[in-house]
Amino acid sequence: MIDLIEKKRDGQELATAEIEWFVRAYTADEAPDYQAAALLMAIYLQGMNRRETVDLTLAMARSGDQLDLHDVAPFVVDKHSSGGVGDKTTLAVQPLVAACGVPVGKMSGRGLGSSGGTLDKMESIRGWSPDLTLAQFKQQLGEIGLVLAGQTADLAPADGKLYALRDVTGTVASTPLIAASIMSKKLAAGADAIVLDVKTGSGAFMPTVAKARELARVMVDIGKNAGRQMVALISDMNQPLGHAVGNALEVKEAIATLRGEGPGDFWAHCLEVAGHMLLLAGKAETLAAAKALVTAGRDEGRALAKFRAMVTAQGGDAGQVDDPEQLPQAEFVERLVAPRAGVIVAMDTAAIGWAVVRLGGGRQVKGEPIDHAVGLVLPAKVGDRFQAGDPLGVIHANDPDKAAEARQSILAALTWAKEAVEPLPHFYGTIT
Ligand code: URA
Repeated sequence: MIDLIEKKRDGQELATAEIEWFVRAYTADEAPDYQAAALLMAIYLQGMNRRETVDLTLAMARSGDQLDLHDVAPFVVDKHSSGGVGDKTTLAVQPLVAACGVPVGKMSGRGLGSSGGTLDKMESIRGWSPDLTLAQFKQQLGEIGLVLAGQTADLAPADGKLYALRDVTGTVASTPLIAASIMSKKLAAGADAIVLDVKTGSGAFMPTVAKARELARVMVDIGKNAGRQMVALISDMNQPLGHAVGNALEVKEAIATLRGEGPGDFWAHCLEVAGHMLLLAGKAETLAAAKALVTAGRDEGRALAKFRAMVTAQGGDAGQVDDPEQLPQAEFVERLVAPRAGVIVAMDTAAIGWAVVRLGGGRQVKGEPIDHAVGLVLPAKVGDRFQAGDPLGVIHANDPDKAAEARQSILAALTWAKEAVEPLPHFYGTIT
């Protein structure tokens, strides 16, 4: 380990065998966290070339079982986001696509830095578990066409361990580490086609469109080389996606969206991602036709029924899906108001994500329990004009001091001006 750390620290390339050795040793608990953390930081600072990134991805994908799902589903599609604030896309998109007859088997992650995690959100639902054996994963995919699993001991366990370590060591926002993390899971989980949602902006790990394109290109190429159909969407993360940020609040918003009652920007985002998944699966000829299928799946209640079936199959309380008011609720619910008249022209979205982490909605040290009830509902968007004292949103907290701190951080994350600005775009392009 010391040789590898020093080599990367000094800007040298790691050999294929060295990368494979590291992944095997760390997964087998033969290399300690502190040395793995030092190597991750060296990679973060020095980067990796394309060959090293591919080696890391493949070694992580091979660290556990690699699924072949074709005995239970002829063609499986998957999606993955590079991480953002308020990004509950999987919760809505998975059932929307499954409702159109395309099986979706997905491995998701926990919160990472300022970005929330799908598994943490889903665990707001009483009893729901992401821990599935391989046999259970396949059985559920065959039976209801929808599975949402965590990184078990069986699937890409190297990513499970490295992800948790990166979350608490300031080593998340690295192109090779994100590419290897996402693509190792996707390759191991056996999907035939993958839609990547690569976020850019103040709440994303890739701050610029150019950086997001670079990450998208690497991941699309890795997937294609492994024989998968790939498309990456570059999407905006200069403000939270939808209104809700925080675990149970996001589950509630995803359920509302499946009922046709969600925020417009979030629905537009889900339509685009789900539409591309259907296109890759050959369910439609054009994106417009694919979006019409997705909309029908929502309007006819089929998508919500799929979500409910997945929750039940994974041990969750379907009563909370039927009545989201039964999801965990915070004790203190406080209004956030505009401190001045004017237009919101920018948001420090990561700061908003961190404010929710500090409310208890995410982790600051490895393995910390999280508070599912806390968070923020912020309907205010960049380009919106307010008068002083107008409502901006609502903070949900379980501690008044933390609520006060969150209020300060969230207000400090908003930039105001007198002049109007254009609303932000949802997407910046597609990489194939
Ligand atoms: N999502 C992942 O699965 N891994 C990352 O590193 C970032 C986002």
